[in-house]
Amino acid sequence: MQKGKIGVTSENLFPIIKKFLYSDHDIFLREIVSNAVDATQKLKTLAAVGQYKGNVENLKVSVSFDKEAKTLTISDNGIGMTAEEIDQYINQIAFSGANEFVEKYKNDANAIIGHFGLGFYSSFMISERVEIISRSYKEGAQAVRWECDGSPDYVIEDADRDSVGTDIIMHVNEDSVEFLEENKINDILNKYCKFLPIPVIFGKKKEWKDGTYVEGTEDNQINDTNPAWTRKPADLKDEDYKSFYHQLYPVGDEPLFNIHLNVDYPFNLTGILYFPKLKNTIEIQKNKIQLYSNQVFVTDSVEGVVPEFLTLLHGVLDSPDIPLNVSRSYLQGDSNVKKISSHITKKVADRLNQIFKESRSDFENKWDDLKIFIEYGMLTEEKFYEKAQNFFLFKNTDGKCFTIEEYEKLIKENQTDKDKKVVHLYASNVEEQFSFIRIAKDKGYDVLLMDEVLSTPLINMFEEKFKDSRFVRVDSDVIEKIIRKEDNEANKLDPEKSGELTSLFQGVVPEGKGHYLIDFESLGENGSPMVITRDEFMRRMKDMSKMQAGMSFYGELPDSYHLVVNIDHPLVKNVIKDKEEKIDGQLKALNTSISELSKQKEEIEKVTKDKKDEEISQVEKDTLSDVEKQLDDVKNQKIEKLKGYGKENKLARQLVDLALLANGLLKGEDLDRFVNRSLELIKN
Ligand code: ADP
Repeated sequence: MQKGKIGVTSENLFPIIKKFLYSDHDIFLREIVSNAVDATQKLKTLAAVGQYKGNVENLKVSVSFDKEAKTLTISDNGIGMTAEEIDQYINQIAFSGANEFVEKYKNDANAIIGHFGLGFYSSFMISERVEIISRSYKEGAQAVRWECDGSPDYVIEDADRDSVGTDIIMHVNEDSVEFLEENKINDILNKYCKFLPIPVIFGKKKEWKDGTYVEGTEDNQINDTNPAWTRKPADLKDEDYKSFYHQLYPVGDEPLFNIHLNVDYPFNLTGILYFPKLKNTIEIQKNKIQLYSNQVFVTDSVEGVVPEFLTLLHGVLDSPDIPLNVSRSYLQGDSNVKKISSHITKKVADRLNQIFKESRSDFENKWDDLKIFIEYGMLTEEKFYEKAQNFFLFKNTDGKCFTIEEYEKLIKENQTDKDKKVVHLYASNVEEQFSFIRIAKDKGYDVLLMDEVLSTPLINMFEEKFKDSRFVRVDSDVIEKIIRKEDNEANKLDPEKSGELTSLFQGVVPEGKGHYLIDFESLGENGSPMVITRDEFMRRMKDMSKMQAGMSFYGELPDSYHLVVNIDHPLVKNVIKDKEEKIDGQLKALNTSISELSKQKEEIEKVTKDKKDEEISQVEKDTLSDVEKQLDDVKNQKIEKLKGYGKENKLARQLVDLALLANGLLKGEDLDRFVNRSLELIKN
């Protein structure tokens, strides 16, 4: 028997392991089982090159536990270790610069373990004592037993073991008895070891007998040693990909497409990514991409390894070239990881392009599920945008799909305005903007449907990318103004008349429910009498303020609308005629005062115009301010008069309410009043 001290420079190794790895105790099992798998694979390799003559048919790793003895044992029939090897690999662990490193990565258990090759020592996280019983594959090797109780002191002695291989026996400590529960062990094995390349056996398969489950005779193998991503794409059928998806995520819909990654050079990467069918955002969170290293599960947080938009995908990535035991920020700067990330982006884009080309109708059918990835990718990865512009689809309000190029062709001739800008019309809600859409379509225009969260940023991006293009929502103005074809603005009212009518309609629009500007347009006798629109710029700013911090300024502004009055419409003409008949007479006196006072004001200003401030007499100053005040008074009287008239004008009210109704803006008491007024009007 040999006694000794483990070759660490610090006596504090085990307290450090216990303390800093506390957050993720489960991984000890991954480490020990992975070592066992490695040992079996090494033996296979030796057999393949003729250095081992024994049987390598039934290589496997067994996990067992004994609740009474409080032991958890991992056994393998792999390569085994001699006493010298145990001394070399287990006793003399490198531990330089430990304190510094541990301080740096104290929140990252993976980093510590990987850095020191502490894989085996992670067993001390849950054990008060660990034994190794091993027999090397070498001919005539003596079996050995090593034992250590967590202090740097160890014991090594001869032991009995009939067959080649290793048992790691962990004497579980009081705080860790949970690791002696079948369910707990099962859960950990299922998480980390599900796709290891050598069978991992945990007890016997359960059988249903006489109303309960009892242990059967067949080994309970917890892993699939040959998962789909490790096989050749040519050997796999569509069903294989689908059933692998369900193996990964037992609850979940059929995926839409898959992408099989298989690269040897300049880095090693395999994996299968799936485009899932998304029902809601919770689901996106749930089925994360799983990252493996040589079939050992490492993590399901792939941030930093794949571009953010691809973290929405599901599936598996396996690469021994991704440094797994480092911090996330280091990962993002790693050149291999960068290459892997851009390779994945390219593959995803190529695959989408291929599906689009090979089966456009299939692609179109799945567009609604796919678009979130594609749009997100286009917004965040320039390289992806470049490829995606070939298969990105615009969908119009009739449900027809067009590529960017096709759509440009479709609308270019008809929807180019006088400034040579191609105007992309869009709606965000077919129901609410129905009449605007219809009017645009009547003109032979096409209207896109852009109705999701990413629409506004997407539109902003397209406006930047497309030359001479604008995107305008159909209800942001009357169509004649959205796509202006010529310069002349015929039929404009004279300023005085338009001023009076503006005041009149200010009396008609809803009070305290947003800010209304009144415009007068010639939209023809058959156009709508009145239309309510929302300014594109302000609306977009408000939409964005909902998504972005720092834009709340726009969010707090009142909604701003335009009431566009069609002065060609007979009903509007009636309102104007009625106003002329009913109150123009009363306005006469006010108008006379206004023009007299304006004249007086002008005269005073003429006299004082060329004088310096100190040369203007007090009398002149007082008179001017007096006249100005009177003028304001009279003007206000006029405005109030017109507003008052507007308020009482049932036809004007009815027309404005109809426009509000068409916009979904007429609600509550206003709607009730509208209904009653309508009934009254019908009765008469
Ligand atoms: P790493 O696996 O990172 O090298 P470990 O501390 O987990 O670090 O293991 C140290 C070494 O001990 C391994 O490289 C291997 O040579 C040896 N070893 C560990 N477990 C076994 C085993 N079950 N069978 C044979 N050798 C083993």
